[in-house]
Amino acid sequence: MKTLPFTVDFLEETASKYPTPFYIYDEKGIRENMEKVKKAFSWNKGFREYFAVKAEPNPSIIEIMKKQGCGTDCSSYTELLLSHAMGFSGDEVMFSSNDTPPSEFKYADDIGATINLDDFTHIKILEDTIGHIPEKISLRFNPGGTYSLSNGIMDNPGDSKYGLTKEQLIEGYKILKQKGAKTLGLHAFLVSNTLTNDYYPELSKTLFELVVELKKVHDIEISFINLSGGVGIAYKEEDVPNDILAIGEGVHRVYDEILVPSGLGDISIYTEMGRFMTGPYGYLVTRAINEKHIYKEYIGVDACAVNLMRPAIYGAYHHITVAGKEKSPRDHVYDVVGSLCENNDKFAIDRPLPKVDRGDLLVIHDAGAHGFAMGYNYNGKLKSAELLMKEDGNVELIRRAETPEDYFATLDVSDIYKKMFQ
Ligand SMILES: *Cc1c(COP(=O)(O)O)cnc(C)c1O
Repeated sequence: MKTLPFTVDFLEETASKYPTPFYIYDEKGIRENMEKVKKAFSWNKGFREYFAVKAEPNPSIIEIMKKQGCGTDCSSYTELLLSHAMGFSGDEVMFSSNDTPPSEFKYADDIGATINLDDFTHIKILEDTIGHIPEKISLRFNPGGTYSLSNGIMDNPGDSKYGLTKEQLIEGYKILKQKGAKTLGLHAFLVSNTLTNDYYPELSKTLFELVVELKKVHDIEISFINLSGGVGIAYKEEDVPNDILAIGEGVHRVYDEILVPSGLGDISIYTEMGRFMTGPYGYLVTRAINEKHIYKEYIGVDACAVNLMRPAIYGAYHHITVAGKEKSPRDHVYDVVGSLCENNDKFAIDRPLPKVDRGDLLVIHDAGAHGFAMGYNYNGKLKSAELLMKEDGNVELIRRAETPEDYFATLDVSDIYKKMFQ
């Protein structure tokens, strides 16, 4: 059973102040989860979680985790800008981008971020752009082929655009060392949204063995290993959630088996989790505004794929609770749809739900990562507000809803803009 941390009365009261649709995040949930992550890796002296900003780029949310020592993992200039403005110091910012414009390397270096290179050719581009090779720098590894865990093939790194081959990696570290780099890192992100406690430990095994080889065969010393993201969440009711304490213990075991006996027991472990950090603690709240009975039964809500794109682009499952009807039997089957002129604008297809009436509030679960952040503006639809439910139960507006002025702002070069707003 997926439950809500709030009641229908609380949601109605919130909706009277902030019109639906809106996102609401659970501060307590995010804080307690971050505490568990820290605990899971407390055995590693240099451990740091660099929250993947792209998952939920709201400073009020990131601040909750910052208070407990997390850094940020940035994929772009604007995410670096946000991290810097929030007071993250250089060491607390990781820049794991790909297809990177040189100007972004420049800014990352200016603010002292750790640059994690996605390609061999970027070594030269970086040096040409900033005039030197930073002392602390990392390379992203792509082992190629398919990547399997005990429960089967997970993904296909050989088909992915990321990272360096093993040969490039070895050559790359040699060049970096020769050009003055002292603190070298190894990064890999091989599978997204894994629902098994084995992913990080198995990835660790691959990376730790490589690090031992780099040391023994090539005299290359790695100082930090970045397990990146990929730890998934239980989107479906029947999914078993990952246990971060078991995951941390699994990595610890492999660390003691492989690194410690090779004299490499002071390597720092980094993570760049996004989904796992905020995903379960964010909800998209939307109101049923239409019902339609044709060849199927439809409930039309006031949110659409612009607010949450995952179902439309990946067919992703997001659980839906009809607020106030948590205990009613799910004896109706609906497609829950938004208003875009796109037939994939469906939050749920053939979903058993209690009878939905116009005016009901629907809560879409597990929208706290890669949810609001993926939003766009197709059909001229506007992005919603974001709210934070504080630990004392108060609600704070942490991003206002977009207005037509925001939507048209970049047309301020046109006379039409003046007609609309002056
Ligand atoms: C997206 C991304 C992450 C976060 O991934 P999650 O699956 O949300 O944990 C971390 N690192 C990099 C380089 C990414 O692109």
